[in-house]
Amino acid sequence: MGNIVVPVNEPLIGDEEKKLVNECLETGWISSAGCFIEEFEKAFSSYCECEHGVSTTNGTTAIHLALKSLDVGPGDEVLVPSFTMAGSVYPIVQCGAVPVFVDSELETCNMSFEDLLSKITRKTKAIIAVHLYGHPVEMDPIMKMAKERGIWVVEDAAEAHGALYKDRKAGSIGDVGCFSFYANKIVTTGEGGMLVSNNSEVVQKARQLKDLAHGEKRFTHVLPEAYNYRMTNIQAAIGIGQLRRIEQTISRKIANALLYNEMLKDIPDLVTPVCKPWVRNVYWMYGLRIKETSRFSKEYLMSELASVGIGTRSFFYPQDKQPAFSRFGKQDCPNAEHLGTYGFYLPSGQTLTESQISYVSESLHKIME
Ligand SMILES: *Cc1c(COP(=O)(O)O)cnc(C)c1O
Repeated sequence: MGNIVVPVNEPLIGDEEKKLVNECLETGWISSAGCFIEEFEKAFSSYCECEHGVSTTNGTTAIHLALKSLDVGPGDEVLVPSFTMAGSVYPIVQCGAVPVFVDSELETCNMSFEDLLSKITRKTKAIIAVHLYGHPVEMDPIMKMAKERGIWVVEDAAEAHGALYKDRKAGSIGDVGCFSFYANKIVTTGEGGMLVSNNSEVVQKARQLKDLAHGEKRFTHVLPEAYNYRMTNIQAAIGIGQLRRIEQTISRKIANALLYNEMLKDIPDLVTPVCKPWVRNVYWMYGLRIKETSRFSKEYLMSELASVGIGTRSFFYPQDKQPAFSRFGKQDCPNAEHLGTYGFYLPSGQTLTESQISYVSESLHKIME
């Protein structure tokens, strides 16, 4: 394997972030009591067009807090796409609830509404809608159905900061929206997460749960179960700097994706990502599918690309096929399996240059000649 010349992803840390982090270090406000926490929660939730933001340690804990605050527990079923990251699924199990895996649409990689409907039962308490790779889920039919049946909707927007569904921000449409600020996400704080919502009751519960359920008096604790999911001031400082550049970051992601689309469109064996006319796809990662009929396997393409210094990543392996969740029974998710078998993504970082995109595309053309 050659040296990597085009990494699959790279965070971009600006001078603003460095300045703000230094401020934390110099003033000693390094844990969760500093002023950047509230500033970041306000700025991020207002960017998401939501009233409240609750910062957490990562995206997985944001989802856990969301489910707990919505009272998801033993005896409940939570619908979640099989094709997603394990961070969308473990929190369901942590609540003592049962994950019910929903199949995907091949076109957008998102959960299929038809399959979702077929898996609703009287025990369904919540739906986790995951906006995969930056393309928003078709939310209107989900919200309408969920309202009618009294089911909560949690958006896992960990890959979709700033994405728009019919002019509404991803994360602001369901009852609660959850974000991750891991290093490869559109906004990073190193590790970190946030829950956004307009439901003040849920937000109040989340705030309590994430901070050892402190009562009104110091060192009194009021819930039978609680966590320490507090973000640090240092992380929030990075987030504030990152958030100031978010529109630039997104424009860059979109421009890179459109360039890839153009350069790869004449390779008949590849299916490039879609963007429905009523959404803003923020192209968190530039994902491709290889046609089933192709003589090239994904593994072959990925290893050939690696040999010329190009980093790639496989798509998620379906969660309903994971040993981790096998006790919940295998579910019929053929499209999720298809995506896991034929999908992978190309270098998608913010630091990617036009000439690197050309290099990746020319390499793919050569390999697939
Ligand atoms: C990244 C991610 C998560 C988890 O976020 P962490 O911050 O890594 O815990 C959850 N869901 C999806 C879809 C993700 O991409």
